[in-house]
Amino acid sequence: LPHPPGDDSPSPSDGDPFPPFAGAVRFDQLPLSRKTKDGLRPKYTTMSDVQRASLPHSLCGRDVLGAAKTGSGKTLAFIIPVLEKLYRVRWGPEDGVGCIIISPTKELAGQLFEELKLVGKYHSLSAGLLIGGRKEVETEKEHVNYLNILVCTPGRLLQHMNETPNFDCSQLQILVLDEADRILDRGFKKELNAIFFQLPKKRQTLLFSATQTKSVQDLARLNLKDPEYLSVHAEC
Ligand code: ADP
Ligand code: MG
Repeated sequence: LPHPPGDDSPSPSDGDPFPPFAGAVRFDQLPLSRKTKDGLRPKYTTMSDVQRASLPHSLCGRDVLGAAKTGSGKTLAFIIPVLEKLYRVRWGPEDGVGCIIISPTKELAGQLFEELKLVGKYHSLSAGLLIGGRKEVETEKEHVNYLNILVCTPGRLLQHMNETPNFDCSQLQILVLDEADRILDRGFKKELNAIFFQLPKKRQTLLFSATQTKSVQDLARLNLKDPEYLSVHAEC
C-alpha cells in the first residue's frame, strides 16, 4: 500500500510489511472475494480497530486471540475470515461441517447468525443455528451433517457430538470462540475441553473476548497454535 506523505510507517525499502495488508483501513483494501465484498456493502466500508488489527493475521490463516470491548465489531472480525477460508478451499455442500462458531448464549448466537447471513449472502455456503429447545434437537440431528457452518452454544454442540449419529467434524477448517470470557463465566469450561478433544488439531482457531482474563489466556495457550495476541482499546 502506498504511504501518505508524512506517514512514519516503514518505507518499502525497509522490507515488506508483515502481515501483508497491515496498513489497510477499508474492507475494499483487503484481499477479499468479490462475494464477501458485495456482502459487506453498503453497510460496512471502514474497518473498526479490532478488525484492522486482526484481519491481516486471520486472513493469512493464523490463529488469533483478539480482546476488544463490547461494541467494537468483533463479529465481523471472525465472520470475514470464516467466509474467506471456506471460499478459498472451495468448500461445498458435500463437504459437510467446515466451520464451528461457539457463542455463550442463544441470544448472542442468534445475533451473530444474522450477521453471518447478511455478509455471507452471496456465498453458496449453508449455515445453521443450533440452539433450539429440547424438541428441536431431533430436527437438528437430521440436518447437522449437511451444514457447512454451525453456530452454536457449547452445551448444544457437545450434545450433538455425543448423540447425533455420524456427526462428523473431522474436516473442520476453522473454529471460532466468540465472547470467550462469557463462555467461561457461564461455567462451560468442561464442555469446551470435551469439544476441543473431539476436534481435529489441524485447523485455524479464532478466539475473541471482551476481556483478557487469566482463564481466557489459559484457554488460548492450550488450544491455539502460535497465536497473534491482540488487545484493542479504542471503539469503532
Ligand atoms: P462486539 O462483538 O465487539 O461487541 P459487534 O460485532 O456486535 O461488537 O458490533 C457492534 C456494532 O457495530 C454492530 O451494530 C455492528 O453492525 C457495528 N459494526 C461492526 N463493525 C463495523 C464497521 N466496520 N463499520 C460500521 N459498523 C460496524
Ligand atoms: Mg460480540
